[in-house]
Amino acid sequence: MAEIRVENLRKEFGTFTAVQNSNFVVGDGEFFVMLGPSGCGKTTTLRMIAGLELPTSGKILLGGEDVTMRRARERDIAFVFQLFALYPHMNVRKNIGFPLLTQGVSKAEIRRQVEETARLLRIDHLLDRAVSGLAGGDRQRVALGRAIVRRPKCFLMDEPLGTLDTEFRDLMVHELRELHNRIHATTVYVTHDQLEAMAMADKIAVMNHGVIEQFGTPQEIYDRPATMFVADFIGSPPMNFLPFHAGLARGSREITVLGARVAVPEVREDMAPADMALGFRPEHIRFDDASPLRGSVYGTEYLGTTQIVAVETAQGIVKARIPAEQSFQVGESVGLALNTARLSLFERGSGRAVSTALHGGGARV
Ligand code: ATP
Repeated sequence: MAEIRVENLRKEFGTFTAVQNSNFVVGDGEFFVMLGPSGCGKTTTLRMIAGLELPTSGKILLGGEDVTMRRARERDIAFVFQLFALYPHMNVRKNIGFPLLTQGVSKAEIRRQVEETARLLRIDHLLDRAVSGLAGGDRQRVALGRAIVRRPKCFLMDEPLGTLDTEFRDLMVHELRELHNRIHATTVYVTHDQLEAMAMADKIAVMNHGVIEQFGTPQEIYDRPATMFVADFIGSPPMNFLPFHAGLARGSREITVLGARVAVPEVREDMAPADMALGFRPEHIRFDDASPLRGSVYGTEYLGTTQIVAVETAQGIVKARIPAEQSFQVGESVGLALNTARLSLFERGSGRAVSTALHGGGARV
């Protein structure tokens, strides 16, 4: 297995720039997810790593070796588009061994590698069974076995769960992560689904319009979004934003929003007067009658243990996730108490997070 290093990687299609100077490192054995909306450049980046697309500029290093100009088959990478198509007329053993057969590997070696892979996936007792008679989960394991049997330097996966229904998707998310924990194969996984990304990734790059807006662990990205785009893309419901207009001096700990003073994490940079936004996640709001930050209940969505309450404020709707037992009337006035330690501040023009005690040294990426 190997580290993947991407340096100033850029891809232009005519006058259109699909990937703008990406930089990231996927550590040896890491599960790395590229996440973003359709058309943001995820697949193009993956295809360049695979050697299926030549970059306009920049470098790709695999295990320290510059492979930028190498052909796909010279890179020892497994590109997995589709995990689920099995050959129905072959048994489990032949399905898993098929990629080795097409590479001309000897029969004895195929046997050895197939058996080792099957043991790893805990399906060695099924090797001589027909795939058509297998339960869903076992079929997925066979498909995975076929993808990993070659033991390449790394795996590249492009929305491999895209066509599955929710039940199998959840099963496969769990299965893929569990497999990763056992084989530690360097993996680059592309998806537009934030839940898949959060559940599987060691590191995530959130992309938008060809730019990596943030690179970090799922927790860093959720807790300290570097931009309003990231804050909005991650989380369900996404982060709330309330606009405010203020110049902030370094060391500030208070702002005015909706006419009320709100305590914020200590601001670590001077900010000229600008249109700003206060960001906070639905679970970081409490209802407190004493709070001067007010709105009226607009609607509720019952979720079992919690509920999402939409509150209409003078600056738009805010969504709060609160315990399901609390009950409200539509139109009722409520006070919103925000968890100071979890607030984010953004400059609305650029969308970037202002550096605060919460954001550490600097959030610009
Ligand atoms: P999706 O999930 O929809 O595939 P993505 O984030 O993977 O989205 P890409 O497939 O990388 O996005 O495409 C990025 C942009 O580059 C899109 O606007 C796409 O239309 C454009 N693009 C991709 N391949 C080509 C090509 N061969 N020629 C011209 N434009 C292309």
